[in-house]
Amino acid sequence: MIRRTAVIARVRNREILRRFGVQMAPRLSSSIALLADLDALRGIIDRVPHPIFVKDEEYRFVIVNAAMCELMGHSYEELVGRTDADFVPGEQADIFKANDRRVLDTGEINENEEVLSPAGEIRTIIARKQRMVLANGARFVVGCITDISGFRRAEAQIRFNAEHDVLTGLANRALLRERLQGAIDDDSANALRTGLLLIDLDGFKNVNDSFGHAAGDALLIEMAGILSALAGPHDIVARLGGDEFAVVQRGLAQPAASIALATAIIAATAKPMNLDSGQAVITASVGIADLTHGPADRETLMRRADLALYGAKKDGRNTWRLFEAGMEATHLLTRLLEDDLRKAIDRDELSLAFQPFVAAGDLSLRGFEALLRWRHPVHGHIEPSVFVPIAEQIGLIATLGEWVLRTALAEAALWPEALRVAVNVSPFQFGQMELPALVAATAARTGIDPRRIDLEITEPAVTADLARARRTFDVLQGMGARIVLDDFGAGSSSIELLRTLPFDRIKIDRSILSRVGDDPVANAVLGAILRLGSTLDFPVTVEGVETEAQLAVIRGEPCDELQGFLFGRPAPWSEWAAGIVLPAQRRA
Ligand code: C2E
Ligand code: CA
Ligand code: CA
Repeated sequence: MIRRTAVIARVRNREILRRFGVQMAPRLSSSIALLADLDALRGIIDRVPHPIFVKDEEYRFVIVNAAMCELMGHSYEELVGRTDADFVPGEQADIFKANDRRVLDTGEINENEEVLSPAGEIRTIIARKQRMVLANGARFVVGCITDISGFRRAEAQIRFNAEHDVLTGLANRALLRERLQGAIDDDSANALRTGLLLIDLDGFKNVNDSFGHAAGDALLIEMAGILSALAGPHDIVARLGGDEFAVVQRGLAQPAASIALATAIIAATAKPMNLDSGQAVITASVGIADLTHGPADRETLMRRADLALYGAKKDGRNTWRLFEAGMEATHLLTRLLEDDLRKAIDRDELSLAFQPFVAAGDLSLRGFEALLRWRHPVHGHIEPSVFVPIAEQIGLIATLGEWVLRTALAEAALWPEALRVAVNVSPFQFGQMELPALVAATAARTGIDPRRIDLEITEPAVTADLARARRTFDVLQGMGARIVLDDFGAGSSSIELLRTLPFDRIKIDRSILSRVGDDPVANAVLGAILRLGSTLDFPVTVEGVETEAQLAVIRGEPCDELQGFLFGRPAPWSEWAAGIVLPAQRRA
């Protein structure tokens, strides 16, 4: 019945086609004719990219296509008439044979096997085997094979890529976190023997900037090699991104073992590295955290190591720090502020406040000190004593300092000629940048006479490299700018320094003044410093003058200039422009 319907349908179709003028090919009289034309059949199946075979009930190959010959590594003539047992290892042949038998009995199976290719590589194949029964009752196994080795390889590669850093081949952050979790979840004795080291390269950006990115990459690869060589066989070494690396150390007494590893890493990193474009010297800072501080989850441990790393950076880099409980609270806000500070300039959150300084004699106005202000969108006003050190830490001080100089000089250029402008220069800025060139260019651009510029620096700015400092002094003073030693009397200010470098002025630290007035000892100290300045022939500024009582004490001693809330608090220029300085003059 079914067959008749099919025949009628076919006839109808032929009718329709004929009506459309389509010429029909002569119908093949029977399947015998098709099989007879074996060459034609082979021609067709050889063009199929997947291996195809037909086996008889004795499991002998009857037909194979070219792809099958290639997979087996034998020719058509060699394969036909033989069984798997003639070509593949006995165990494998037995599996194929058992499967073939099941196909003949049940009709169809999917075989998923790993086979050895003629070239000796393991290939993963899926063979779809189906039973074919001819009219005479003869049964065959028809197989069509898909080689999924490439897919499996890609799959493995994808998994590897997802867990590793492309450049260095080290584990990435995701894998490190996973392994760290594994270590924490281990039984408590083992977990206690886990250490986490975060490693950050100091000055890597400089290498990138001066040698190029290719050299930077080479250095990172070299660093990966150093870490892998120093880490133990059970440790995980990871690159977290940029110039940040991490090691999870396992199975060793903590924190001693982590400290030993950190020390070795720092020593190995400090050796000059040979790059194509020259030799680079770079150092590493390491932060360490472990579970000996008490139980902690993965995130907590990462954060603690990060805080310790931050501590190492803050303590001068090229060193390691172990997490301490106190680090947590102190540096949390700092870390949060870092990113914000980077964006502060672009977002226009920075401004300058100007505080006047006056002549000690007649209290006439001599000029203004520019003081940096940051209004954070969430935290509000943030003290420069908080964010200037952060800017120094994260290498942002040069950018910030440039902004301050540019903005302050541009403002001061519009003031009356008699007024000076004092700008604070960070030790980092003084040591790292071509400060004289920057001052010269900025002065030229804004049109201000460099003789109206005071640059205020503190002792650390010059002590690191006195010879260099002297050269910087020469150029700056050569163009007329003055150099002021700020915060004199705070900490370890040395009188020796005043003899070594030609400062134009010293500014006595606020802390000395804070007790002046009612404390006779403090009065005596201030008097001694002021007289010293006079003896050495330095003009002296006293800053932080808040009360008339303080002013009275100072007035009994030799002093050149005064600054403090008594004479004016730091305020935006707009407020001064309206009052103290004649607005007409300013806009002239
Ligand atoms: P500094 O250079 O010693 O600046 C003087 C500081 O004393 C200012 O604090 C000022 O507001 C404050 N001050 C002035 N008169 C009085 C007074 O009579 N009583 C009291 N209690 N304080 C007074 P500020 O603005 O918070 O700046 C703190 C420090 O931040 C500055 O100390 C300076 O080291 C740094 N800083 C400020 N602006 C800049 C800048 O543009 N660049 C750099 N590198 N550092 C800056
Ligand atoms: Ca200052
Ligand atoms: Ca000061």
